[in-house]
Amino acid sequence: MHTIYFVIPCYNEEEVITETVRQLGEKIRELEDSGAISKDSRILLVDDGSRDRTWELISDFSHNIPYVCGVKLSRNCGHQNALLAGLMTAKDYCDAAISMDADLQDDISVIPEFIERFEEGNEIVYGIRKSRASDTAFKRGTAHGFYRIMKAMGVELISDHADYRLMSKRAIEALSQFKEVNLFLRGIMPLIGFKTANVYYERHERFAGKSKYPLKKMISFALDGITSFSTVPLKLIGGIGFVVCIISLCALIYALVSKLTGNAHAGWASIVGSIWFIGGIQLLSAGVCGEYIGKIYKEVKARPHYIIDTTILK
Ligand code: UDP
Ligand code: MG
Repeated sequence: MHTIYFVIPCYNEEEVITETVRQLGEKIRELEDSGAISKDSRILLVDDGSRDRTWELISDFSHNIPYVCGVKLSRNCGHQNALLAGLMTAKDYCDAAISMDADLQDDISVIPEFIERFEEGNEIVYGIRKSRASDTAFKRGTAHGFYRIMKAMGVELISDHADYRLMSKRAIEALSQFKEVNLFLRGIMPLIGFKTANVYYERHERFAGKSKYPLKKMISFALDGITSFSTVPLKLIGGIGFVVCIISLCALIYALVSKLTGNAHAGWASIVGSIWFIGGIQLLSAGVCGEYIGKIYKEVKARPHYIIDTTILK
């Protein structure tokens, strides 16, 4: 019988975690009674520096409910880092960990399937959304665009898989060897290898509270995903630069010929236009290079992903 830890990052989730712990707790007891998981299985709630009462609730649950544990990060480190903190804490105690959102958007009724796939010898089991009906058309569109771009950039991603997944202890230990600071877990997963399986589920609406991923965070997450896994933008710049050089050369020849044949009009517009254009391209190139240099800067410093403030385990 396996010990499963349910790792849940929570950021300002006071409105939802009570219900989440109740529903998930029921599920766990059911699984324990049927002998699917061991009595040492736990819900591990990671407080990602919430500003509301989230930690008070977690600490209260941890002291009063036998199967709940909590980890408090010293400040808000972001979803991916909170998840990593939870997985790294869980790996010393569990046989496998299932990561999920605090808002019950990930359907908990498929948990037995995750465990079955794990028992069949899969080290990573991906939860994959069957449809995106609960999303706004905008989120659906941007998500599809994102997967397409990532594919074009040569990044292997599992479509419609977010962070609802089971990882065996061995897979988490492998993950701990990835030292990168710009963390994009779902991009790292395929790099871990091992035998994997998929479980399909319906994603529900967030039942209370607001999304902690506003558009700004979503865009920065997507950009992180691209620039952390692909050097295609760097190469693209070289390509654009090359094409622009060829075009400028043609324009130069054209201007020269016009001058020699005597019908050159001092073209203010074309000169100003090209100055702006070239300037723009250069700035763009510098910007993309800067993105990568910024990443190198962060990696070189090798700062910790998170700092744990308090841990309540049992
Ligand atoms: N989250 C976190 N730190 C953050 C932002 C989000 O730990 O800085 C957690 C949040 O509490 C939730 C999960 O990450 O459990 C996913 O966030 P959310 O449900 O808001 O994202 P969405 O489902 O809207 O994409
Ligand atoms: Mg959510």
